[in-house]
Amino acid sequence: MDRATELLASVFGFDAFRPGQAEIVEAVAAGRNVLAIMPTGGGKSLCFQLPALYRDGVTVVISPLIALMRDQVRALREVGVEAGALTSGNTQQETDAVFDALDQGRMRLLYMAPERLASAGTLTLLQRIGTSLIAVDEAHCVSQWGHDFRPDYLRLGELRRALNVPLAAFTATADAETREEIVRRLFDGDAPQTFLRGFDRPNIHLAFAAKDGPRKQILDFATARRGQSGIVYCSTRAKTETLAGALRQDGHSACHYHGGMDREDRRVVETRFQREDGLIVVATVAFGMGIDKPDIRWVAHADLPKSIEAYYQEIGRAGRDGAPAETLTLYGYDDIRLRRSQIDEGLAPMERKSADHVRLNALLGLAEALRCRRQTLLKYFGEDPEPCGHCDLCDKPAEVFDGTEAVRKALSAILRTGEYFGAGHLIDILVGSTTDKVRARRHDKLPTFGVGKDMNRVQWQAVFRQMMGHDLVRPDPERHGALRMTEIARPILRGEDTIKLRRDTIRKAAARPVARALVTEDDAPLLSALKAKRRALAETARVPAYVIFTDRTLIEMAEKRPVTLDQMAGISGVGAKKLDRYGVAFLGIIAGETPAPEHPARMKLSGRTEGAVYDRLLEAQAELARGDGTGKPMSCSASLLAKVASLHAPDMATLQQLLGERRAERFGPAFLDILQDA
Ligand code: ADP
Ligand code: ZN
Repeated sequence: MDRATELLASVFGFDAFRPGQAEIVEAVAAGRNVLAIMPTGGGKSLCFQLPALYRDGVTVVISPLIALMRDQVRALREVGVEAGALTSGNTQQETDAVFDALDQGRMRLLYMAPERLASAGTLTLLQRIGTSLIAVDEAHCVSQWGHDFRPDYLRLGELRRALNVPLAAFTATADAETREEIVRRLFDGDAPQTFLRGFDRPNIHLAFAAKDGPRKQILDFATARRGQSGIVYCSTRAKTETLAGALRQDGHSACHYHGGMDREDRRVVETRFQREDGLIVVATVAFGMGIDKPDIRWVAHADLPKSIEAYYQEIGRAGRDGAPAETLTLYGYDDIRLRRSQIDEGLAPMERKSADHVRLNALLGLAEALRCRRQTLLKYFGEDPEPCGHCDLCDKPAEVFDGTEAVRKALSAILRTGEYFGAGHLIDILVGSTTDKVRARRHDKLPTFGVGKDMNRVQWQAVFRQMMGHDLVRPDPERHGALRMTEIARPILRGEDTIKLRRDTIRKAAARPVARALVTEDDAPLLSALKAKRRALAETARVPAYVIFTDRTLIEMAEKRPVTLDQMAGISGVGAKKLDRYGVAFLGIIAGETPAPEHPARMKLSGRTEGAVYDRLLEAQAELARGDGTGKPMSCSASLLAKVASLHAPDMATLQQLLGERRAERFGPAFLDILQDA
């Protein structure tokens, strides 16, 4: 086992690297300049935290958000790594502690807000403490064209030059322009070793649904996941408030969040969400950057997101711990019409507008996809995967029908009424409904009147939504959303092309939502008990629950039910420090009672082969303790046994030295046998 893998297990408690991590860790540890692009939740932090443990000097981490830094520092300290942050949010006491650790050369990772780079003393400080690596989190903040631009990031290139140490930059933003800008600004254009990880997040279940009583759809989705932390994204501030209210009325713990709220109120929501288990936040997209909660179990969109990129980023906040997470994105005719009009009515130049329509088409293509949702999504990012088996369309293939005839009828209704009306009136004409407007315009005399009687209004709405989604028709900004035919539709109208449409599944009314569990029914009570223990510990320590253990770790405990500390050490997420701190407490929950703590010398060996060796030595000793019955009973202390168990090249002479003449005589041969076949 190499150093990195060993530390991965002993400090972080993970038994394997996530895809891509090992190579990045190696490059960073070797002191190369690195640019790593990994999806959210891919495990970027580990890629600089792990090398920091065994490189000489201090690793300085630049990260844009104080809350995230404090969280990472807390999590590192929790696993026994000396880390600290210098931010404007520090108390004097915290700052003093950081400087003490730096002066004593104990500090491994020093987190720093970018603002601090502007102050004169910073460079001297970083030189003095022996900075040997700069790690830059959210490196896309250096891009002036991005949404997250942070002017202070521009100082990083200069800092790297002045310190003359390697720099490792991390981001989840992959587009080529941003990448190029990062290389130019942080590395003076000298290409760093670049790692681009795939964009798949296999633990996230993907699903879209056409709006059909959207409030109830969201409430049902949340109810089926009662008690799990989730986010609902809405397109308007007002809606976040009403929907949060509706969720509370349904007995959920929920609050709203949007850019119009006071800073302080927003901060309260952020903190509660971070700390509490099972809170739902109903938010506009303003709720984003500051969230670093690994155990968000679901994300729902009450309205269509802005773009595929936005969709990917928003759903990507779920399941960062790798445990199962679910998503649901609702979309409807009005969403599509709204987005189209926003583009057309915007002030952007013509080429920009058509590019935006193309981007919107990609998102709608995903919404109306007929085959594997994930395949469609990843193709957009340039990947070409197999069907995933973990999305709504893999679960249940879309029911499709030949929509050519219906589309032609609809187009004909549009053209015969001079491209002057919206879907509502057009549907009246198609189903032959003699409304006042129809009569007034004499549209009941049209040849198209009533030609669509074979379908009801709801079905026609689905057809119009999909026509809009396939960009066959667009709302005309000059005519208040009247529909116009596009060039794409012409071949269908002429009978030169056909089109397949989805038949929207009409759900049975009032079917009670089934609770979606993370574990089987058998394991569920244990999982709740483990979570309760975690909550209690988190509250005492005043840290977010996941800092103790993530959901994923608890799920594994509930499934594998370890009964010894060794087995506990084998659970992913249980490193040496956490085993030491919480192992016994959680074993107690699993056993239904608190077992007697083991001897500290034995605890140190937990999860290692030496632990098992120790146990066998103890067994052998028990058998031999009374010798042949004539001599005095004899035994070795626990710490002595631990030393024996840890011997690398055991032989009789070493044992004699360690145990003394008489004990070596009694136990030596048996111990040697055990050691030699370990
Ligand atoms: P991001 O890439 O979004 O910054 P993080 O670094 O926050 O992701 O990691 C997301 C989650 O994955 C964290 O809870 C982290 O502890 C966990 N994680 C990282 N690496 C591994 C691994 N090798 N095995 C298991 N869990 C891991
Ligand atoms: Zn799929």
